[in-house]
Amino acid sequence: MSVSREELIHAATTFGTPLYVYHAESIADQYQKLANAFSTLNARFFYAAKALTNISILRHVRSIGCSIDCSSVNEVKLAIHAGFTPGQILYTSNSVSFAEIQEVVSLGVSVTIDSLSNLEKFAAAYGGSYPVGVRIRPNIMAGGNTKISTGHAGSKFGIPIEQVGSLQELVEVHKLNLQTLHIHTGSEISEASVFAKGVQLLLELADLFPTVSIIDLGGGFKVPYRPDEKETDLDAIAEEVRKAFAFFREKTGRQLQVWFEPGKYLVAQAGYLLASVTVVKPTDTICFVGVNSGLNHLIRPMFYEAYHHISNLTHPKGEPYPYQITGNICETDDFALARMLPEVREGDLLAFHNAGAYGFEMASSYNARVRPAEVLYTNGQPQLIRRRETLDDLLAQQIIV
Ligand SMILES: *Cc1c(COP(=O)(O)O)cnc(C)c1O
Repeated sequence: MSVSREELIHAATTFGTPLYVYHAESIADQYQKLANAFSTLNARFFYAAKALTNISILRHVRSIGCSIDCSSVNEVKLAIHAGFTPGQILYTSNSVSFAEIQEVVSLGVSVTIDSLSNLEKFAAAYGGSYPVGVRIRPNIMAGGNTKISTGHAGSKFGIPIEQVGSLQELVEVHKLNLQTLHIHTGSEISEASVFAKGVQLLLELADLFPTVSIIDLGGGFKVPYRPDEKETDLDAIAEEVRKAFAFFREKTGRQLQVWFEPGKYLVAQAGYLLASVTVVKPTDTICFVGVNSGLNHLIRPMFYEAYHHISNLTHPKGEPYPYQITGNICETDDFALARMLPEVREGDLLAFHNAGAYGFEMASSYNARVRPAEVLYTNGQPQLIRRRETLDDLLAQQIIV
């Protein structure tokens, strides 16, 4: 545990539950692992902000030297608010209006476009005056779950590789300054070979586009969610990229940069969702444990069948039993089925691990239940970085007629 059991209990006692707790040093450690693994390459890392956009987290990510990848114009504005300079910000668009792209261009950040349609509009508006990247759909199946696979032949993301002829024509006619070729094939990619395949494919394309100087391999590095799972082998990916880049340099004389957009890798393990046990309900077949949280706070188990490790913080030495851990939302709302946990009693405090990425960020106020508070531990000190939502917050935007 990157935050100790005592620290988690202390945070829950101080700030109440349900509560998100993050650990600043874990984020820095993960970033350092990336920087070390790719140190022999000309590499840059852009934190995929959509995993967790709390401003204090963004400021921390900036302070450790990481750049940022944004998936909406508002994420770009949050990044600027957190102190990132335009040169540190990358915007990866999908299914967006051209007006949003124009707004992002006016902010001076790097832009990746994912359709020929928007690229045509971009060409008409800017020609070669503003550098641009394109997202390619490589038709590779990768990732932990169909909802998080984004590079296959049925995916909405990117310009399909079979349309590269049209891309080439557009680039040549408008003399576009095509700087970056990008792919992001999915999340929770365990095999280095997926990245190797991606880099091969982008280098073949780079050969066709002499202005390209950056290969962006996206995010998707896997972190262990289950106790027996392994992290993506970064050294193996670095070696594949190094070999491929060296070969390309020999052939073309061009020196390339590699960019990555890690989301989960940086923040997943740094976060915990803490919830209190409200009801223990034994039945003939299953013992249900109800907590004061649910899919409104952490949707990943219900949405992606994601596994989140759970600890009973306040009874760690209890006799283990199988439990169905459920939320308080009025529909099927399971965190875990048949999960062995030390005996759970009403009032116990449970920790859901690996909740830093796509946890709070995907939270809602479904059932008119408020979103949790967020706390950041830095040097052993917990600081509130978002107060708990209130009923007034839920009413604030409504116009009573
Ligand atoms: C979501 C996303 C990422 C981050 O994915 P992780 O699995 O969290 O690393 C990176 N790049 C793009 C374009 C994305 O949409």
